[in-house]
Amino acid sequence: MEDLYAKKAWELIAMLRGREVSAREVLQSVLRRIEEVEGDVHSYITLTEGEAEQAASRADEALAGGRDPGTAAGVPLAVKDVLCTRGVPTTCGSRMLEGFVPVYDATVIGRLREAGMTMMGKANMDEFAMGSSTENSAFGPTRNPWDLDRVPGGSSGGSAASVAAGEAIWALGSDTGGSIRQPASFCGLVGLKPTYGLVSRYGLVAFASSLDQVGPIARDVRDCALLLSLIAGYDPRDSTSLQVKVADYLEALEGDIRGLRVGVPGELMQEGLTPGVRANVENALRLFAELGAEVEETTLPHLDYALSAYYILAPAEASSNLARYDGVRYGLRVEGEDMLEMYGRTRAAGFGAEVKRRIMLGTYALSAGYYEAYYGQAQKVRTLILGDFRRAFERFDVLVSPTSPTPAFALGEKVEDPLAMYLSDVCTIPVNLAGIPAVSIPCGLEDGLPVGLQIMGKALGEAELLRVARVMEEALGFRERPRVARGEA
Ligand code: GLN
Repeated sequence: MEDLYAKKAWELIAMLRGREVSAREVLQSVLRRIEEVEGDVHSYITLTEGEAEQAASRADEALAGGRDPGTAAGVPLAVKDVLCTRGVPTTCGSRMLEGFVPVYDATVIGRLREAGMTMMGKANMDEFAMGSSTENSAFGPTRNPWDLDRVPGGSSGGSAASVAAGEAIWALGSDTGGSIRQPASFCGLVGLKPTYGLVSRYGLVAFASSLDQVGPIARDVRDCALLLSLIAGYDPRDSTSLQVKVADYLEALEGDIRGLRVGVPGELMQEGLTPGVRANVENALRLFAELGAEVEETTLPHLDYALSAYYILAPAEASSNLARYDGVRYGLRVEGEDMLEMYGRTRAAGFGAEVKRRIMLGTYALSAGYYEAYYGQAQKVRTLILGDFRRAFERFDVLVSPTSPTPAFALGEKVEDPLAMYLSDVCTIPVNLAGIPAVSIPCGLEDGLPVGLQIMGKALGEAELLRVARVMEEALGFRERPRVARGEA
């Protein structure tokens, strides 16, 4: 039998309910796997075995007593360390939050606790979610289970690597410019960035508040749909939370894609794609057509400016959000002669290079005299991009592109070159600017590394998006698994 740690959440849930396995057995299998591979992969910043054992016992007791343990019970989950977890250190991959133990749970964590979740640990990430490789973590990088010399993507790299390596069954990530989809794509997994406002941001440590969303990373579309259904929905504690009825994402998976109108934005298929990414995406487009969809090239004319606009807006919001780390209320404090010196020393010691770069970029963009030229202009570009998508969705049901122009790159390859790092998000960033949902599914391999297909949908169109993704997942038949070893190269 396949090891329990390698199973999908929905398979384990059925087995638990059929009393074929116990939650403790599932947990043991994952713990053994962690022992085996965590030294190489480094998915976690904090492991929460104690809590997980208690949760597994509670699940087993409920099952033995014929009670419902909750949908997420007994299925080990990795949580990106940017979500507040009561009583469990939350670092955001930064020295700045040293010693910080939240006194409350993020709303998504509270909801998952109610659903009986077994939290396996807090997953590694780029500091404050700024990055595309998890190399910006103050706790050292995570490695890609497909090739340990490569990055797992980022910023939710620990979340993705843990699921790919079998150190968790599913995971929560956050996505401001691609941080769920790009690591899912680099690790051969399914990752979904929900519509802005569908999932509560309460207790999600803010990077760029107008772009941040929490979402699932999982082994297949069904698990993604299931996890989304557990975290989505209105939260009065998040003022940007949408008051909408949450669709039944599992039921929505049934059906086909005959007659589906698929648009392929030319701007996202330009130069810069590796041959394998292009070939695998083109193959997926052929499959769309074979399954009865109408595939047509289209254009989102302002997309060329998306990256520039993002790298004004996200740092601007970050510079304001990160002003709260001053050594007074929580986390690191480095004493000085007076208050200003204490602030300065604390922030100099607490933040890493990329976070400092963003704070400076953002502060500059917001400074008097430059505000209109940079921030104001970027806001206008954002509106134009929103308009491009709105027009495209009058003609198309979904838009399709690569998730990333390349498969996972080598560790160290882009750390010295922030611009090259920023470019790895060209395909994902426009989606955050427009606030729409998008999912990445694996669509093939290039030189033994997974390639991701991005499917973008209308605002609040998650149900349709997941159905399309499920149909394509089946047609693509991607079944490869990582070896958790170094690559041949
Ligand atoms: N890589 C992008 C950045 O560095 C996106 C990060 C994210 O989505 N959190 O900003």
